[in-house]
Amino acid sequence: MKHRIAIALTVLMILAFGLSTAQAGKLEDIQKRGTLVAGVKDSQPPFGYVDENSKQIVGFEIDLMAALAKKLGVKLETKPVTSSTRIPMLTQGDIDIVAATMTHSRQRDKQIDYSITYFSTFQRLLVKKDSGIKSIADLAGKKIGSAKGSTSEKNAQRAQPKATVISFETYPEAFLALKQGKVQAVTTDEAILLGLKNKDDNPGDYAVVGEPISAEPYGLGIVENDSKFRDAVNFALMEMWESGEYQKLYDKWFGKDTKFFIPLTWTMELWP
Ligand code: GLU
Repeated sequence: MKHRIAIALTVLMILAFGLSTAQAGKLEDIQKRGTLVAGVKDSQPPFGYVDENSKQIVGFEIDLMAALAKKLGVKLETKPVTSSTRIPMLTQGDIDIVAATMTHSRQRDKQIDYSITYFSTFQRLLVKKDSGIKSIADLAGKKIGSAKGSTSEKNAQRAQPKATVISFETYPEAFLALKQGKVQAVTTDEAILLGLKNKDDNPGDYAVVGEPISAEPYGLGIVENDSKFRDAVNFALMEMWESGEYQKLYDKWFGKDTKFFIPLTWTMELWP
């Protein structure tokens, strides 16, 4: 009997502990800790990459997370993620938020929650300029490089079933394979392809080509069922858009005077 009571008490204690930590929520965790831990890319200019001089991870998504951390009254800590590690790292609690060129897809939404869209792009192809490849139709029987765990590996196969899609850990590795002639194109979001091409020593040797393969709205990845944290993130994004802080950051990384110029053609979803 005593034994049973002890077991019942332990179960109750575990349940109560689980309930209290679930109720505490991410926002409280972050504020108590004093840091927001964001999963970011570290080899994808201009979203997140290591700066040659400072050796720090810099980029549009790092600045966006620094602005979010400031709004939450905490410091920012970044942890590098890849396309395939970002969701497991979030669900395992290694990071509080994913800011890593991650498309909000219905498939992924089954595992995690998302903020409103904070960046919008679509997928195209990066090829050698003299290759003669103009569109996905030209890639039948050819090899296309992409990244493991990305939407692009699936989109490319769907758009060109006669191609072989080879997935690398990161996009720079796929780009290296293009340079070495191991693949004839790299596919992912146009904004990422422009980053690879224009950060290269010889950007003129490459071209971003083809009709849009798919639409890719980026959302910040957050844990499931934590509406307090999700609200804080969404409200911060909307405030940044309304105050012009978002546009300032966008201009810094994607404006006319940058290597990665992409006109801002979409509008953030703003709730009254
Ligand atoms: N936005 C796409 C995705 O979430 C491609 C970029 C990436 O792999 O991060 O899969």
